[in-house]
Amino acid sequence: MKRLMLLLLLVSVGTGFAKVTKQKRAAWEWMQNNSASAVECAGDIWAHPELGELETYSSGRLAGLLEGQGFEITRDVAGLPTAWVASFSNGPGPVIGYLAEFDALPGLSQAAGGTERKPLVAGGTGHGCGHNLLGTASAFAALGVRQAMIQHKLPGTVKVFGCPAEETLVGKVYMTREGVFDGVVAMLGWHPGGNNAVTYKSSLAMTSLKFRFHGRTAHGAGDPHHGRSALDAVELMSAGVNYMREHVIDKARIHYVITNGGGAPNVVPDIAEVWYYVRAPKTEDQRPILEWVRQIAEGAAMMTRTRLEEELLTSGYEVLLNDPLAELLQENLEEVGPPLFDESDWEFARGLSRSFDEPDSVLLDTTVAELEIVPPDEWGWGGGSTDDGDVSWNVPYGRITTACFVKGSPGHSWQVVSCSGSQTGFKGMLTGARVLAGAGVDLLQQPKWIERAREDFVKKLAGRTYQCGVPDSLPPPHSR
Ligand SMILES: [Zn+2]
Repeated sequence: MKRLMLLLLLVSVGTGFAKVTKQKRAAWEWMQNNSASAVECAGDIWAHPELGELETYSSGRLAGLLEGQGFEITRDVAGLPTAWVASFSNGPGPVIGYLAEFDALPGLSQAAGGTERKPLVAGGTGHGCGHNLLGTASAFAALGVRQAMIQHKLPGTVKVFGCPAEETLVGKVYMTREGVFDGVVAMLGWHPGGNNAVTYKSSLAMTSLKFRFHGRTAHGAGDPHHGRSALDAVELMSAGVNYMREHVIDKARIHYVITNGGGAPNVVPDIAEVWYYVRAPKTEDQRPILEWVRQIAEGAAMMTRTRLEEELLTSGYEVLLNDPLAELLQENLEEVGPPLFDESDWEFARGLSRSFDEPDSVLLDTTVAELEIVPPDEWGWGGGSTDDGDVSWNVPYGRITTACFVKGSPGHSWQVVSCSGSQTGFKGMLTGARVLAGAGVDLLQQPKWIERAREDFVKKLAGRTYQCGVPDSLPPPHSR
C-alpha cells in the first residue's frame, strides 16, 4: 500500500516537472545535483546553534556558501555584525530577494533525530524553530536561480538577506530602518513547519520593551520609611495593565516577566525591572495600546515616588499579505509537490509522536494545501509575531511553509530541534528551496508577476505609510 502511495507521489511530481520551463528546470537540476552541499550546510549550522545577534559561525557559514558560488557579500549591515547582503547580478533587470535566518533558541539543546529528550549540552542552545533549515533553503534557492540566470541568460539580480535575531524580532526591523531592502521588487521567504502550504496568514504587530524603576534602598524593618520601593512600582504597573486589558481589543496580547524584583525581602529594592511584549493584529491598534502601557508605567512611578527608565528593544509591524505572490508560490508548490518521505521518516515520526500529549493522526504531511485568497478583513493573524512584517510593508512579500517537522511538535521545542537536524527536516528544506527557486525564476522571466505584486502591494498599503517603530538613533540591543 505504502509503495503504491509512493509511486503515486512520484507520478504526481513527475507530471508537474513535465510542464516546467527550461529555465526553471535548470535551477532545479542544479539544486538536485548539489543538494548534498545544502544538507551539509544546514547540518553544520544546526551543530553550531547561536542566539540572536551572536550568530557569528552560522552567519559566516551561510554567507560562505553563497560567496563560494560567486555572490558578492556585504557584511555587518545596519549596525548588526551578523547581518549581510549577498548579491548576484546578471545585467540590468529586476532585483528579487530571499530572506534567510539562522538564530537558535536557549535551553533547547537536543540530539538530532532523537525521539526522546536528550540534550547534547545541558542547558545549551538548539534550533527549536528550524532556522538552520530556513537560512540554508533561502540561500540554496538563490543559488538555483543564479544557475538558471547564467545558463539561460536571464537578466536581473538575486539577493539573499542574512537576517539575524528573528526570535527577538530585531534583525529585519533594524535592517528595514536602514533601507537594506530598498530596490527589491519582490521578496520571498519561508518557514519550516508541519505542512506544505502558502502562508496566507498575517502576524501580530509587537513592541518589546523594558521598564526599569529606580527607587531608594533602606532596611526593610529598621527604616522602611526612608525607602522608595522600585518593586512596588513594578507591581502597581502590572496591576494597572491588568485592569487595562478589559478595555482594549480582544485580539491584543500583553505579557510580561519581572526580570529584576530585588534581592532580599529585608532590603527595600532600589531597582526593579519588568519586560513587556505588547501585541495586536494591526500596528494602528497596537501603538495606542503601547502608549497606554507607557502611561501606566509613568503613573506607577508617580505613585511610588520612583524614577522610570524605559528601554525599547524593538517594535515590528504585522505581515502585509500579497495575493499575486501567494498565487505564484502556490503554483510552484504544486509543481514541486510535497517531500517524499520514506519508511525511516515514518519510523522517526512515530517514535517522536510518543512524546506528544495528543499525537496527530497524520504525522507527516504528504499533501499540498489549497490556497484561499480572502480580503484583508478576513485574514487570519496566527499567534505570534515576526520581523518579516516590516519587510512586507516595504517590499511585496510572499512566504510558504513546508513539512520539515513531525506534525504536533510544539513550537520552540526539543522535538523541533530533533527534526531540524534529521533527514526528515532536510527533505522538507530541499522542497522549500525548490519552490522558492521556481518562484524566483518565474519572477525574473515573467514581469507580469512583478507588476501584479506591486499593484496589490500599493492597494494593501491603502495610503498608509511605514514608520519604523524604532527611533533613528537607537542601535540594535546587543550593540548598545
Ligand atoms: Zn522561526
